[in-house]
Amino acid sequence: MRWSKSYLPTYKEVPKDAEIPSHQLMLRAGMIRSLTSGVYSFLPLGYRVLHKIETIVREEMNRIGSQEVQMPVLHPGELYEETGRLKNFGELLFQLKDRRGRLFALGPTHEEVVTDIARAELKSYRQLPQTLYQILVKFRDEFRPRFGVMRAREFMMKDAYSFHASQESLQETYDSMAGAYHRILERFGLEAVQVEAESGAIGGDINHEFIVLANAGESVIFRCPSCGYAANDERAVSLGASTLEKESSGKMETVATPGQHTVEEVSGFFKVSPQRLVKTLLYKSGEKNIAALVPGDRELNEIKFAKAIGDPDARPMTPEEVTALTQAPVGFAGPVGLDGVHIVADELLNDYDGMIVGANQADAHTRGVKMGRDFTAAQVARISMVVEGDRCTNCDTGRLKLSRGVEIGHIFKLDVKYSKAMGATFLDKDGQEKAFIMGCYGFGVSRAVAATIEQHYDEKGIRWPKALSPFHVIVTPLNLSDAGTVSTMESIYTDLGVAGFDVLLDDRDLRPGPKFKDAELIGVPVRVTLGERNLKDGRCELYYRLEDRTDVVAITDVVAKVREYYAL
Ligand code: ATP
Ligand code: MG
Repeated sequence: MRWSKSYLPTYKEVPKDAEIPSHQLMLRAGMIRSLTSGVYSFLPLGYRVLHKIETIVREEMNRIGSQEVQMPVLHPGELYEETGRLKNFGELLFQLKDRRGRLFALGPTHEEVVTDIARAELKSYRQLPQTLYQILVKFRDEFRPRFGVMRAREFMMKDAYSFHASQESLQETYDSMAGAYHRILERFGLEAVQVEAESGAIGGDINHEFIVLANAGESVIFRCPSCGYAANDERAVSLGASTLEKESSGKMETVATPGQHTVEEVSGFFKVSPQRLVKTLLYKSGEKNIAALVPGDRELNEIKFAKAIGDPDARPMTPEEVTALTQAPVGFAGPVGLDGVHIVADELLNDYDGMIVGANQADAHTRGVKMGRDFTAAQVARISMVVEGDRCTNCDTGRLKLSRGVEIGHIFKLDVKYSKAMGATFLDKDGQEKAFIMGCYGFGVSRAVAATIEQHYDEKGIRWPKALSPFHVIVTPLNLSDAGTVSTMESIYTDLGVAGFDVLLDDRDLRPGPKFKDAELIGVPVRVTLGERNLKDGRCELYYRLEDRTDVVAITDVVAKVREYYAL
């Protein structure tokens, strides 16, 4: 490709509305342009990377026997009524009506559609297992689209679905899918971790996320360096803090704590660490009042809490409801004497003797409170979030470490959730009619472009890993008014192209400085620099961006050197 004739707009300024490096760099390198919030065009440079990602994903899917299909983007609303996801997806689902007023959705994922396909044809265990996949645009009206293509409202996903007669067969496909994801990420040149996760709106219980480690990522994961346990923050469990400051309960005592509201203020007032405080969070589940008790240094894990009480629709009480129930302003709720409230205590509180809690009066806290003696928990369950340094539940020796990253893939064992709801059945060996056992496997194709950059950039720009660079080589002639430079540049450009490389020829009539800056910004791993002085000796410079190394080589060796670099 000749730069002078290409749609490759680059710019120096950091775009104001782009918060993270990948978004800034994708805009500056002219890879993407925004049409409206969360909706992007991929320009030629960006599209090349997207295409390389798709190719690798496709190769690895085909290799494990997954078959490529293309399902519709436009989905009839009734399908979502069958599975109850019209309600579950809620506002995330883009909805529209046809001219007769019939409801449609723009596909956010394809469990319903693929199950509809399968129920029509797959009738016998002999036809199983089957795995179908597609690489297709998805629509989700995200609450907060941001970070460019990282969290968009229209994005590309690879989604695969599998149908099985047995759990063993599902496990086999699940494992080979995880293997394919590891190979894909390795081929991309990304450092990623497979973690246990929560399933969200997709459902099912066993599921894993693939997290590309990066500081700007929205995902938080915990890993145990001793045993390898890894889970995202929603899923993670632990045995609690490595050291627990103990206070004996002694006698319960209510203390005036004027003006002390936050955990920090109250723990400062009592001169104890925040973990000794216990937070009382009040919720409504239908008409029922529920109190969640968690250690002062931890957040409530709302997913685990919802599971514990069996109500995904439970909501925090309004300040008015809190005051009506506790007779105190917000911030002073406590479990002692709280009548008509279902108390769910975090499992970690089993190890507490004396707790400091709100006194259900303005400006007062109660200390020396003991669970079982001073109040009764109707339920004890692990409902608090893990924090860094916690003891690992899996091995009991390691201390959990926190990392951030980007969720690039998510695989789920769906079991019979969709097949049962949609009456998708087959005849098993024993002549019984059974619902398909299913799995589904998502991979963020357009998000992968941004995730790769998050792991591979420096102050000059993108540093594409070899497999994903939009071009293998950029050829940069320094003086276009020199006839020798022009003829050499043409022959190198042709020779590299013939050798099978993607070559960008920077034939713009610009000074060397801006050309080098642009080459570094768009991040091509190899630059061939043609300067008059070297050319006189039949030589040129090869600059390797990832290694930050320059070699002077004979013009006649350029193709061989590039081949060697890419090990082709
Ligand atoms: P997230 O938690 O980031 O919202 P999700 O769990 O809702 O994602 P899945 O339903 O698991 O996403 O989708 C599979 C994959 O699709 C994700 O792992 C991610 O790589 C990609 N993906 C999901 N939502 C978006 C989005 N809004 N923009 C870009 N990629 C996305
Ligand atoms: Mg997910």
